[in-house]
Amino acid sequence: MFRALTSLTLIAALAACGDSPPPQRAVSQPQIETVGMSAGVLSTKEAKQLFGAKPAGSAQPAAPYGGYAKGCLAGGVQLPETGPTWQAMRLSRNRNWAHPITVDYVQELSRKAAQQPGWNGLYIGDMSQPRGGPMLTGHRSHQSGLDIDIWLRPANDLTLTRTERENISSISLRRASGAFTNNNWTRAHHEILKAAASDPRVARIFIFPGAKVAMCNAEKGDRAWLRKIRPWWGHHYHFHVRLTCPAGATACSNQNPPPAGDGCAEAQGWVDRILNPPPPDPNAPKPKPRRELTLSDLPRQCADVLAAR
Ligand SMILES: [Zn+2]
Repeated sequence: MFRALTSLTLIAALAACGDSPPPQRAVSQPQIETVGMSAGVLSTKEAKQLFGAKPAGSAQPAAPYGGYAKGCLAGGVQLPETGPTWQAMRLSRNRNWAHPITVDYVQELSRKAAQQPGWNGLYIGDMSQPRGGPMLTGHRSHQSGLDIDIWLRPANDLTLTRTERENISSISLRRASGAFTNNNWTRAHHEILKAAASDPRVARIFIFPGAKVAMCNAEKGDRAWLRKIRPWWGHHYHFHVRLTCPAGATACSNQNPPPAGDGCAEAQGWVDRILNPPPPDPNAPKPKPRRELTLSDLPRQCADVLAAR
């Protein structure tokens, strides 16, 4: 048990920005055939360079290919920059693209958020690149058009200009390195996360451990939704929603579902280890340096996604 926890900690320490959610574990999945050398010289190129250079989605039917941290997106659509109950932030990054079900999910959740006191909707952070795939900066996941970062700052002003959306920041909701919430945390956050997690399209939501424990303690009604809320490093300026593969997406790989139960004891364990860190394990395996993904590593369909109009 101790070993397992320690290697988890190491994986987290490796994550570039300290807030990348876990890559998916190998589970019983459709066997995903990769591009391999079939794309010739392109196969050896870094996938982030190829996908990072695409300004628009591919003219193909929408389909996520592969996994959240090794995949791409055909037929990506753009979340409109501003809607009645949302604004997309940091427009210069051009990451307000996703699978159509993801865009639908965001719009629906933003309407629910708008019902909370002090909120008129949601500020939406990174989704995916136009054709998904690895990014030049930031995330390891968000590759298949099914991940969304949502700001924890109440979206009270939905008339922000492009410049304002580059410059304003979200707010942190954590105290004591994430063991607890701070004074910015409100019942509205609880209700929005509850609505977010209660949607059957959601696989997991990542947020800092203190927030999960706060919701565990405050929830007096149905607790089933808490299972989808998973503690993770970082994630105190935004929460990260990960959707499951849409029906019929046969070349999309899901993550294992979270363990049964509300996960509250596990989250409390994270809090306890923040407050009383265990001594380092001298037998912990050395982290392996991570190699950049090349096009050859991605699902076979991703070469077509790149080449499509
Ligand atoms: Zn994210």
